[in-house]
Amino acid sequence: MTTISVRNLKKTFKVKEKEKGFIGSIKSIFKPKYKEIKAVNDISFDVEEGEIIAFIGPNGAGKSTTIKMLTGILYPDEGSINVLDINPTKARKKLAYQIGTVFGQKEQLWMHLTPLDNFKFFASIYDISDKEAEVRIEELCNTFDLKEFINTPVRNLSLGQRIRCEIVASLIHKPKVLFLDEPTIGLDPVVKENIRKLIKQMNKEYNTTIFLTSHDISDIEKLCNRVIIINYGQIVMDTSMTNLKYHYMDKKIIEVMLKEKIDFKNAEGIEILKEKDNNLKIEIDTKKTDLTTVLQLINPENIVDINISNTPLEEIISAIYRR
Ligand code: ATP
Repeated sequence: MTTISVRNLKKTFKVKEKEKGFIGSIKSIFKPKYKEIKAVNDISFDVEEGEIIAFIGPNGAGKSTTIKMLTGILYPDEGSINVLDINPTKARKKLAYQIGTVFGQKEQLWMHLTPLDNFKFFASIYDISDKEAEVRIEELCNTFDLKEFINTPVRNLSLGQRIRCEIVASLIHKPKVLFLDEPTIGLDPVVKENIRKLIKQMNKEYNTTIFLTSHDISDIEKLCNRVIIINYGQIVMDTSMTNLKYHYMDKKIIEVMLKEKIDFKNAEGIEILKEKDNNLKIEIDTKKTDLTTVLQLINPENIVDINISNTPLEEIISAIYRR
C-alpha cells in the first residue's frame, strides 16, 4: 500500500538579496531587493507502507522544506501530496493523529517535566484515555528501556536519553508514519547505534513507515532499504540501498597513527592517500578487499589511534553527477 505520494512538488522562498559589503546601503532598508530560492523544485516519489526511506542531501538541499510540506507545516506552491490518504495542506490536524515527528535539533518535550509527565501530556493531546495511555506508556518504556530515568526532569537527561524519550513521545498515539529529521545528530557512536536499533525495532514491531533525513551515512547504511538523494531542490537519485552501496559506497577511509610504519604498498584494494611520519591515511576499495582483511594487516599493539569513515555524502553526490 502506498503511504506517501508526492507529485511535482514545488516551493519557492523569496529572500532579501545580500548587498555588497558588510552592512550594505541605507537605501536597501527601505527598498530591499529580493531573489527567489527554489527550495523544492518539482519532485515526485512514492513511499510504500513499512519502508524505511532515507531522504538525504547536502545542507540547503530542500530536505526540511519537503518534510515540512509532508507534515502540513508549510504549504506547497505547486504539486500534490498524499500521506495516508490525507492531504496535509487541507487536513493538517487530522494527519497529526496518524503521524509522528522527531526533529533531532529541536526538542518537542517540555524540559521541566519528567518523561512520564510528558508522555501523559502527549497522550491527552491525542485524546487517548488515561487507562489506554498507561498501558501504552508502560509498553513503550519497556521496549525502549526508559524506566531508569522516567521520573527525571528532561532538562537533566543526557542528549541520548532525551532523544530516546523524544522518539517514544512521538509513538504514543501509534503513528503509521514517522518523520525523523536528523535523529542521531550530536550523539556519540554507542548511543547512535542504540537509537538505530530502536528505529529498526519500531519498524519491525509496528510496521511503521519511516521517513528519515540524516547527514550520517552510517544511519542510512544501517537503517534504510531505499534512498532518495536531493540536491538543489531536485531528486538526483532514487534507488535501493543495495544499489547505492554497490556503486557509490564502495570506499572506506582509514586514518591510523602507528607506533611503527607498515608497508601497504602492494596490498590489493588499498590506496595510500597520505603518509606523514607514522600517520597514514588509506582508502580501501571494498569491491577488491574487505575492511576485516585490511585491519588484520595491522597489529593492534602497533596502533596509537585509528578512525574508520565512509565516503562523505558530498563525494557520493559528486560521483553520481560524474556518472
Ligand atoms: P539542512 O541539511 O542544512 O537542514 P535542508 O536540505 O533541510 O538543509 P532546507 O532547510 O529545506 O534545506 O532549505 C532549502 C533552501 O531553502 C535553503 O537555501 C534555505 O536557505 C531556504 N529556506 C528554507 N526555509 C526558508 C524560509 N523560511 N525562508 C527563506 N528561505 C528558506
